[in-house]
Amino acid sequence: MKKCKYCKSEINEEAIVCPICKRNQNQRRNINIAIIIIGVIFIIVILSFIGKEVDKTKDEIDRINGNSVEQLEDWLEG
Ligand SMILES: [Zn+2]
Repeated sequence: MKKCKYCKSEINEEAIVCPICKRNQNQRRNINIAIIIIGVIFIIVILSFIGKEVDKTKDEIDRINGNSVEQLEDWLEG
């Protein structure tokens, strides 16, 4: 057992998200996810310059940006 970083509840050692307050316990993992998302966005931006389907790529970037904002918000809270 370990203590939740946020609400100090006793939670499972393996728990990634606290079952009590739903906060993420593994900040390092979230940072990695943020880096991966930023990398994916960067690749898509490059592809949007290379590719001819610019409008389609923009839609994809918007969709991924929406997801990454959620992830970053989660990371900033955690
Ligand atoms: Zn908690």
